Amino acid sequence: MSKFSLQGRTALVTGGARGCGLAFASGLAEAGANIAIFDVVDPEPDFYTIEKSLGVRTAYYRVDVSSEESLQSGFSQFQKDFDNALDICVPCAGINRHLPFLEFTYKDHSDLLAINVLGLYFTAQLAAKQMIANGTKHGSIVLVSSMASHIAVRSQLCSAYCGSKGAVRSMCPAIAKEMAEYGIRVNSISPGYVRTEMTAAFPHLLESWKSEAMNGRIAEPEDIMGACVFLASDASSYMTGQDVIVDGGVTRW
Ligand code: NAD
Repeated sequence: MSKFSLQGRTALVTGGARGCGLAFASGLAEAGANIAIFDVVDPEPDFYTIEKSLGVRTAYYRVDVSSEESLQSGFSQFQKDFDNALDICVPCAGINRHLPFLEFTYKDHSDLLAINVLGLYFTAQLAAKQMIANGTKHGSIVLVSSMASHIAVRSQLCSAYCGSKGAVRSMCPAIAKEMAEYGIRVNSISPGYVRTEMTAAFPHLLESWKSEAMNGRIAEPEDIMGACVFLASDASSYMTGQDVIVDGGVTRW
């Protein structure tokens, strides 16, 4: 079997109902993985075509990753439904808040951290526990960080978001080190500007974002899915603790 194949594996993607998460889920399914998604909104129609067109199993759970109770009960149901199978986890659920640093309130910031940092961290932790318990030989966790963890995004006021994505990127090698003894690899992805609902709120910034990329365009969600599929697969078996930047070159010039 190809090292890129995910045939017979099970993947969990949070924030998989739309945008980057849905693209990651679709890419993993295209490579053969069964897919479960956790989200607080109903999936876009494309999610429901995955099972029919690719012949893999799919399931959607309404889970708020910022709530310990919701996350744990979502995991319990998912474990029951999938007989504890889990090989790949992509904690992708995230939000942004565009406010000047001087106007951020404690609540704005803690709401954002509860999803982007705590939600991601405990999703990864529950996934790792499940992978250890089921003894998978293909455990891979792909944390979703951002280009905003590498640079202060020029056109946006998003200091809390940048900090949260920096936290994701820096926790990655620390978690990877602890999980290495279980054969679970942990890497992160840092996408650049991607056309999703998160960025759609800023049509006036589109031209400036395009000019920041070497290739003169922003990414479609499909442009970033390959990095996730690669990190999830055995083709990246010697990679752990790394961050992969997929940003059209924005952070390189
Ligand atoms: P999006 O808003 O289109 O999708 C985010 C998804 O997360 C939505 O389906 C949303 O319902 C879900 N979500 C939000 N809060 C949740 C919660 N508490 N529990 C469960 N699900 C929740 O945004 P996107 O652009 O697809 O972003 C996905 C991830 O990619 C985020 O972590 C984001 O920070 C990251 N990212 C996006 C870009 C970009 O330019 N779009 C760039 C770098 C990184």
